Amino acid sequence: MSRPVPRIQDELCLHCTTCHAQKVCRVRALVRIEPDDAPFLDSARCNGCLRCILACPTRVIREPGTELLTDAPSG
Ligand code: SF4
Ligand code: SF4
Repeated sequence: MSRPVPRIQDELCLHCTTCHAQKVCRVRALVRIEPDDAPFLDSARCNGCLRCILACPTRVIREPGTELLTDAPSG
């Protein structure tokens, strides 16, 4: 059975030069079409490991079933 996949709140993504979430994804499920885009999550590849959630410094990648952010966290 497949695990639920995270949701990316791309409207709050800071478009980091290096996406740390993308770097820790071992199955390359986080894709950027353009280098400064918010990453897109390919749910067909994602295995639900949730490593990306811990890696994103602003937590805009949300664990399934958790509340969405209403504003980007500062700091
Ligand atoms: S690390 Fe987080 S805030 Fe930065 S580009 Fe990736 S998803 Fe967006
Ligand atoms: S949950 Fe795991 S497999 Fe899915 S996008 Fe995040 S790091 Fe990649």
